[in-house]
Amino acid sequence: MKMLHGKSALITGASRGIGRQIALCFAQHGCDIAITYIESAEQAAEVCRLAQEYGVKAFAYQADATDFDTAHEVVKQAIADLGHLDILVNNAGIAQDTLLLRMTEKQWDQVIDVNLKSAFNYTHAVTPIFARQRSGSIISMSSVVGLEGNVGQANYAASKAGMVAFMRSVAKELGGRNVRANTIAAGFIDTDMTRAMSDQAKEYAIAQIPMKRIGQPQEVANLALFLASDLASYISGQTIQVNGGMA
Ligand code: NAP
Repeated sequence: MKMLHGKSALITGASRGIGRQIALCFAQHGCDIAITYIESAEQAAEVCRLAQEYGVKAFAYQADATDFDTAHEVVKQAIADLGHLDILVNNAGIAQDTLLLRMTEKQWDQVIDVNLKSAFNYTHAVTPIFARQRSGSIISMSSVVGLEGNVGQANYAASKAGMVAFMRSVAKELGGRNVRANTIAAGFIDTDMTRAMSDQAKEYAIAQIPMKRIGQPQEVANLALFLASDLASYISGQTIQVNGGMA
């Protein structure tokens, strides 16, 4: 069954990792896709090529998600290319981990800008469109760290906690227009972001997970697929965890 047949989606930061897998999973389910990236032009082109093999339209735009005007231009371009837009996934994210004592203002600002302001930029851009068409699904990527906090990740945790409150607010503001807004709080997922960790830090992280393994991007994409689809037609304002059983 193609769960997103006839729909179209814009996914930020989808050249690699979780965003890439969400884009390919949506494409496999019949969804036309537009993706953004900041540096990885070749990987983004490869995602489009693989998506097109499923018989859907696919476009990639080099676009810094922190820039308000660029986000609005990207949404316009995506609608011009895809014909319409039904789904937004705010996925672009970075980590700049260090203890608070050593954290620079730049490290704080960059993480808040890429992880949280980007979601405002893109959600702001689709709001009038989704409100007018009286439908839309917005999915934003948070983290267990946004719910629990973490040593060395005060900036990242704050950005991800902000995402939860932002999406809950969007759900309340736009629910009357049949626009849904949900957050995925992912656990420890196997991507470039976590591959950058030391072996010792990875072993420690896995030891905290009841299922005793790292998660795969597809396991996050599966939830995004459900939330984007009409099967989730009465689910909004929720934060759902994909974390192998962590509290
Ligand atoms: P990743 O593998 O490092 O990929 C990050 C993606 O974001 C890349 O496509 C990157 O594009 C894009 N990006 C970064 N800065 C950008 C910017 N300013 N504008 C546009 N795109 C930008 O990360 P990931 O692990 O897949 O994480 C994806 C999301 O899930 C993030 O929001 C992350 O915080 C969240 N998350 C991850 C985990 C985990 O364990 N991995 C857990 C919980 C939540 P380029 O390729 O061009 O650099």
